[in-house]
Amino acid sequence: MIRDIIKAVFNGRLEYSEHALSQSIHRDISNQEVKQAIIGGKIIELPSPAVGESDHRLRAQPAGMDRLRSKAELRMTCHVCGGRLEDKLVTYTIEHGGQLHVFENVPARVCRQCGERYFADDTVGKVQGAIRQEREPDRFIQAPVIDYRSIV
Ligand SMILES: [Zn+2]
Repeated sequence: MIRDIIKAVFNGRLEYSEHALSQSIHRDISNQEVKQAIIGGKIIELPSPAVGESDHRLRAQPAGMDRLRSKAELRMTCHVCGGRLEDKLVTYTIEHGGQLHVFENVPARVCRQCGERYFADDTVGKVQGAIRQEREPDRFIQAPVIDYRSIV
């Protein structure tokens, strides 16, 4: 299984969930560092996360699933719910360094069933780079801010 993951990384098939993309930005971990860790890293035992705690480890489909669905089919389906994925251009928003960053027209694979969004490694690198290098934005928007306490 780990060999399949390393092969996928070499073949440029590494994909991030939206949560993983956001966490990589918050923790300032580049996609290059992730790839190096996968290819050159050691496998370590981690305790199972407590209920409600998020789990950032790589997930792999149970071996039996490969027999039921072809590998090509697995790549086309959502890891959360098994729904069909479709290529779309999406808006990705992240708060970082006290500022809201809005990325428009970001290529993603989006689950038709649950809405989970997956970003290619190359796309992740470009988004991370734009934030790191504080790229000049293409435009600014005004956004309404509502304090929840003011509406209850
Ligand atoms: Zn899904």
